[in-house]
Amino acid sequence: CSRIKANITDDDVFRGVKGRSILERMRLDGRVAYVTGAGQGIGRAFAHALGEAGANVAVVDIDPIKADTVVKELNLKGINGLAIKADISKSEDVQRMIDSIMSKWGAVHIACNNAGINMNSASEDTTLDEWDKTFSVNLRGTFLCCQAAGRVMLKQGYGKIINTASMASLIVPHPQKQLSYNTSKAGVVKLTQTLGTEWIDRGVRVNCISPGIVDTPLIHSESLEPLVQRWLSDIPAGRLAQVTDLQAAVVYLACDASDYMTGHNLVIEGGQSLW
Ligand code: NAD
Repeated sequence: CSRIKANITDDDVFRGVKGRSILERMRLDGRVAYVTGAGQGIGRAFAHALGEAGANVAVVDIDPIKADTVVKELNLKGINGLAIKADISKSEDVQRMIDSIMSKWGAVHIACNNAGINMNSASEDTTLDEWDKTFSVNLRGTFLCCQAAGRVMLKQGYGKIINTASMASLIVPHPQKQLSYNTSKAGVVKLTQTLGTEWIDRGVRVNCISPGIVDTPLIHSESLEPLVQRWLSDIPAGRLAQVTDLQAAVVYLACDASDYMTGHNLVIEGGQSLW
């Protein structure tokens, strides 16, 4: 694993950085990763992508049955997996997650803080309970994971943290009623920027991915389903994102080829935020 100083002197474009071609620099062999909310949807796709690129992957979810199922899928492909039940809004669960990974693999190189929830109601009707629940998972949970993983990574002098934010951190998708969700995801972007600049000189990069509207169980909830048809007409690409549209981004942010990138928000939304 490389530290922040590159020390590149050769003609690296021709020879490859330290003799490694771009595809070799995108491999994750021997790295240890975890993905929260990996029992389904985007997190499951991230777990498969990191594993296919060579990483050992801890599959973390509040639902242990889903986590076990995804680990079995990884094992079928020859990927080492570890199922961990954790509620990321609880600091004791987050610490237990890190301890379990350390005792099995002895390091945390890649922290993919993806778990999130979405509740929607008109802003004037948003209850404090709804606001607190959304923030406890989306922002507090992401902070707890960043801090616990970050402490290990700072000791290692190396780490890649990838948070899942949302296009809703940048624009207000219309028509929708997601005050607490949008605000919590804007917080994830600012958390990422702050940590990304604070920790880069100690070898820890922090970036986030902001998906547009992705075809997962999250958007097929009773309250969001009626909006899907309307959203489709707002997407220049003409379709919803599939989870596979996001997989290369997580591998890129996890690998050595993105070492000079920190604090940024990679937006993948079929052009929707530009229209
Ligand atoms: P999903 O609802 O399909 O899956 C979320 C997973 O997280 C589930 O397996 C669930 O059990 C788990 N989870 C929920 N609360 C948890 C907690 N407290 N601790 C641990 N695990 C928990 O969601 P998704 O669509 O795959 O979304 C994943 C992430 O991407 C979320 O942060 C979401 O906000 C974000 N996102 C989704 C979309 C979209 O359109 N689907 C768009 C932008 C951003």
